[in-house]
Amino acid sequence: MYRQAVWDEPILKHLSREGRVGYSLPPLDSEFKSKIEDLADLVPEKMRRDKEPNLPQLSEPEVLRHYVRLSQMNFGIDVGMYPLGSCTMKYNPKVSQRICRDPRIAYLHPYQSESTVQGILEILYELEHMLSEIAGVSSFSLQPAAGAQGEYVGALMMKHYLQDSGFGNKNEMLVPDSAHGTNPASAAMAGFKVVKIPSSEKGTVSVEAVKRLVNQNTAGMMLTVPNTLGIFESDIVEVSKQVHDAGGLMYYDGANMNALLGRVRPGDMGFDVVHINVHKTFATPHGGGGPGAGPVGVVSKLAPYLPVPRIIKRDDGYSLDYQAEKTIGPIKSFYGNIAVLLRAYCYILSLGREGLKTVSEQAVLASNYLLSLLNKSSYKPTTSEGIPAKHEFVVSASPLKRRTGVSAGEVAKAILDFGMHSPTTYFPLIVSEALMIEPTETETLENIEAYADVLNSIASSSEQEKEQIMASPHNTSVGRLDEYHASHPGSMILSWKELDQTEKT
Ligand SMILES: *Cc1c(COP(=O)(O)O)cnc(C)c1O
Repeated sequence: MYRQAVWDEPILKHLSREGRVGYSLPPLDSEFKSKIEDLADLVPEKMRRDKEPNLPQLSEPEVLRHYVRLSQMNFGIDVGMYPLGSCTMKYNPKVSQRICRDPRIAYLHPYQSESTVQGILEILYELEHMLSEIAGVSSFSLQPAAGAQGEYVGALMMKHYLQDSGFGNKNEMLVPDSAHGTNPASAAMAGFKVVKIPSSEKGTVSVEAVKRLVNQNTAGMMLTVPNTLGIFESDIVEVSKQVHDAGGLMYYDGANMNALLGRVRPGDMGFDVVHINVHKTFATPHGGGGPGAGPVGVVSKLAPYLPVPRIIKRDDGYSLDYQAEKTIGPIKSFYGNIAVLLRAYCYILSLGREGLKTVSEQAVLASNYLLSLLNKSSYKPTTSEGIPAKHEFVVSASPLKRRTGVSAGEVAKAILDFGMHSPTTYFPLIVSEALMIEPTETETLENIEAYADVLNSIASSSEQEKEQIMASPHNTSVGRLDEYHASHPGSMILSWKELDQTEKT
């Protein structure tokens, strides 16, 4: 007969038994005890506990099993393939993790005096210069905590620069319809009116539309290259000329530099501002909301506007300078998400100049190989014949849905049963039933082939096994979630509160 296993308990508190302990400490000697009591006197009366904390009482193995079990319910890049297009879930070298945990790094505190943190300042200073070289711009700030914040900082700098140059009237930002949602949001937050640019037949930005929409109010354009369809914007030079001729500035969304590392540089393509998501392009575990880092770089005319503090190198060492006259000000406490930046530094140094070129080469190869293996009568490519994809590609599951009723979302759920993560679904918005796939440079041929097999077999079995697909996933730690309630405030209970005696009875 089935009995609920003890380990089905989701909360340690429920496993607690009076008197069970998971540690052994020597008894408190009286001298130490009185010291603790003296310390307690320093805490104001109203902030002191009136009863002991009600902690669960458990043995060590129970606690250990609980946390190991939780970790096994999770899926991550260290468990299986995770080709989440646009988000770039690439392997994170463990050596970087180890360096971040080094006590000489991990125990640094932002309030330490500058003379005691010369090492990390030197690392960050060097990283700024490496990113400037990779992006072909003059200077970088590492402060922004995410791509979206980098965009906001970039848009604000553009605004201040235009105002100082006597073009305060320029208030329109051009954004292609294939852009990541953060682009129009950041531009709007910086006070710009967002002008949508439609894509051409090829899936790239339409030069005709840019010509039509550029005018004396154009402040600039935000462009993602390769765009979110994974296609290189082949008309960049022409587009950027149009915007520059009208006195506007070009913003490069480099959240994903994976296809271009060591090959072409945004600065050389005519961009004035660029952000790079180091948590995508330069590894770093991320997801579930962070932490990340979205350093932002600029050509020299915009450098005075970068956020403060700036890291300055003098003969006697490194220091943080808060004095820049034209700065847009600080935008993040201290100097950004240092641990994320440090991983990017390790990743860049461990690969070197040639290694970074190999990253882009293999990322693009992997993506095109996977695309070539897919059954096109179910998954329709969005790249035109003869135009290769970059580090990611988008297919539409519309043909599959029309034939069998199985949608991109259902395919994504079914993939989970094979111990793999699904692609990004329903983005970009301009493709119906979109599946956006980015295998990354770190997957083997066999893994890429296995992923294609899974997608193709879901498609080929979607008529006979439709019911099973529609009810998937079956093999994961939680089954199909209620997506409506999961995304509505107030309907998900994420905290636990012990009932007091009166509520219990
Ligand atoms: C991820 C991404 C962003 C936003 O970056 P966050 O760090 O999530 O704020 C912007 N643009 C593109 C193209 C992206 O892929």
